[in-house]
Amino acid sequence: MPKKTVHEKGKKTVSVPKARTSVAGSDVRKRTSAPKKTSGKGISPVAAASEKGLLLQSLRGMRDILPDEQPYWERVRRSLAAAAHQFGFQRIDIPTVEYLHLFVRSIREGTDIIDKELYAFETRGGDRVALRPEFTAGIARAYIQHGMGVLPKPIRLFSMGPVFRYDRPQEGRYRELWQGNFDIFGEEDPILDAQLIQIASRVVYELGLRNIEFQINSIGSVESRKRYEKALTRFLESQKQKLCQDCRDRLEKNPLRVLDCKEDKCAQLTATAPQSIDFLDDESRSHFKTLLEYLDELEIPYSINPRLVRGLDYYTRTVFEIWSTDREGKKYALGGGGRYDNLIRELGGEPTPAIGFGLGLDRVVLEMKRTQVRPYEAPTPRVFIAQLGELAKKKSLRLFADLERRGILSSESFGRGSLKSQLRVANRIGAEVTVILGQKEALDDTAIVKDMLSGTQETVTRARLVDAVKKILKSNDTMSKSKR
Ligand code: AMP
Repeated sequence: MPKKTVHEKGKKTVSVPKARTSVAGSDVRKRTSAPKKTSGKGISPVAAASEKGLLLQSLRGMRDILPDEQPYWERVRRSLAAAAHQFGFQRIDIPTVEYLHLFVRSIREGTDIIDKELYAFETRGGDRVALRPEFTAGIARAYIQHGMGVLPKPIRLFSMGPVFRYDRPQEGRYRELWQGNFDIFGEEDPILDAQLIQIASRVVYELGLRNIEFQINSIGSVESRKRYEKALTRFLESQKQKLCQDCRDRLEKNPLRVLDCKEDKCAQLTATAPQSIDFLDDESRSHFKTLLEYLDELEIPYSINPRLVRGLDYYTRTVFEIWSTDREGKKYALGGGGRYDNLIRELGGEPTPAIGFGLGLDRVVLEMKRTQVRPYEAPTPRVFIAQLGELAKKKSLRLFADLERRGILSSESFGRGSLKSQLRVANRIGAEVTVILGQKEALDDTAIVKDMLSGTQETVTRARLVDAVKKILKSNDTMSKSKR
């Protein structure tokens, strides 16, 4: 196994305020009784409407992604979709809300996501549901529900959308966050683990992000994980008095979570704790070794982080995270994933190995801005339509549609009256052609086509109009090609 530097994990605070919707300790089995007729728990709409001052404010930790920020998001969305296409993933969209039970069965109590961060509530019909805190559980449910197991394997699914976590909001940490998610079902060969990491790497590099590092670990099979948990518990129990209060609780519920604690004293202690890779069964060890060989072959920079166990309980064998580091050495988690070879079976499907990862789009966008990566540049309109008078205005609507149908992106300023102010707009947006429809042209069914570069113009019939515009655009294209 190649030796790599082990880096400390970056800051990723996990302490969050107690969610009012916490489900810990509640009976989350699917409802079998008849649905209630009354509204579910929570505030009635009338009472909610009377809450003063909250009307014009988005919820804490939830935000609008305004048009001027969209070019960054567009670049990310396009990159993800292109990678999904190139690596043979099919898009799947799943509901934002699922039965609460699905998440609890998959992610399990004892994890922050379930105990503290889940948006769970009862519907008016009495169903106990939750907003998805991640994609995998819902995708696994869909995989089983739609009998995808009969399809030729591996089955590769891509999804993208918001997920919800009642986390403590701050920059880069929201309660509604976006993830791009890739899952592969039906294959346990480590080459797929490598391929998934390759996709993640391809996406972040494509987006212009550098200083990226993959942290990787193996937590082995269920059995080796159990043995490891036992050894870790024994170690932590012997040092219990040195742990923070949260970690003493974690020790009872889910000792692996202690490895995630950012308190200095806990981090110091766990640095000397037993490591999961020393407890791997032979098969998991060889799986991990082969994966690292593939990553070396792909020249993907990674480090083995023996403390990386990830916050979700369904993982087996490979777990990994993508981190970016700034000049001051501060680290940012951009995404993470791992194998979940037992999840489909545990949820009631045929035993099906699987692996997936989620990329945090909000964090990726922040990184793009921080490192001054260029956002997506939408093609700008090359043609401007100017009009004067009621009839011309009406005919301009049709003209806009004609140009659009022939693949020509145009712009207009229909709300403005004066021709002068419209032409100013045409200049400002750098239109190459302006089509002018005055009252006379509207009556004659003609238009003036003005070449904005040369300043020449001609009157053409409506039938010839689109071709006349195209001719100018084509000659501009040829000119700019010959200049290059
Ligand atoms: P996780 O599966 O929890 O590691 O989440 C995957 C990725 O989603 C992380 O690496 C982050 O980029 C992103 N992420 C997780 N939680 C949040 C949050 N509260 N706000 C913004 N992004 C988040």
